Parts: sequence; structure tokens; C-alpha cells
Amino acid sequence: MRKFPKVVELYCHERTSKQQMTRKGYSDDHAMVLFQCHGCGLIHAFPVATMICDGIVPPPKIKKTEVAIVAVAPLEYSPSDVYQVGQSIHHAAFDDIGKIISENTLHGHGKIVVAFEKSGKKILIHGLPRR
Ligand SMILES: [Zn+2]
Repeated sequence: MRKFPKVVELYCHERTSKQQMTRKGYSDDHAMVLFQCHGCGLIHAFPVATMICDGIVPPPKIKKTEVAIVAVAPLEYSPSDVYQVGQSIHHAAFDDIGKIISENTLHGHGKIVVAFEKSGKKILIHGLPRR
């Protein structure tokens, strides 16, 4: 199992900016890391897979330029995954790539609004419980 630093800088969708966050634990299946946000005070859950590909850097070593140039390949859309504003996803049914422009999460489930390159804006669900 991958361990993340106790305090990291991550994107907060409440503040729509990077915030320092303190690691609180992991989801039962260890697919998600839970962080308490210093910016908005809420607990945010981040998919472990996404965090690894984003490259997690503890705040003392972070440089703004290094954060800004992280390029992330589009994630394959799945209703059971959780996404954040700014991520790019590939939707197999549309065969289209889109950027998440807003999201609305309640207890880890919610909707994302995605601006697709060919299909335009679509509302998708995310964070559905895995069966
Ligand atoms: Zn926050």
C-alpha cells in the first residue's frame, strides 16, 4: 500500500485552489486517501491512482512552477470513480475527451459537468459505490 505524506498541497474544489491538507486516513478499500483541508475545513477524498499520477509533493519542497506543469493523461471515465474540477477524462461511449469544469459532491457521490471536445457539455455521475 502506498503511503502519502502527512501534509500535502492538493487542489480544493471548494476554494478552487491548492490548499494544504492533513492526511486523515484511507477508505476501507484503500482506493481513496482522505485529507482534511486547511482551506475549507472539509475532508476531501482523493483517488490513490490519481494522486500517484499527479505526483504528490509535500509543501516544503513544492515549487509553483513544478505544480503548474504536471501533465495528466485523460482518465478513463467510470461512474464509480471520483473526479475533480480540472481533470480530463475519456468517455468510452462518446469516444471523446473532456475537461471537468464543475462538480457537486455530497458524501462522496455527485455529478460532474464535463466540456467534451466533440460532444459539448455533458453532466455525468461520479462516485457511485462499487459493487
Ligand atoms: Zn477544501
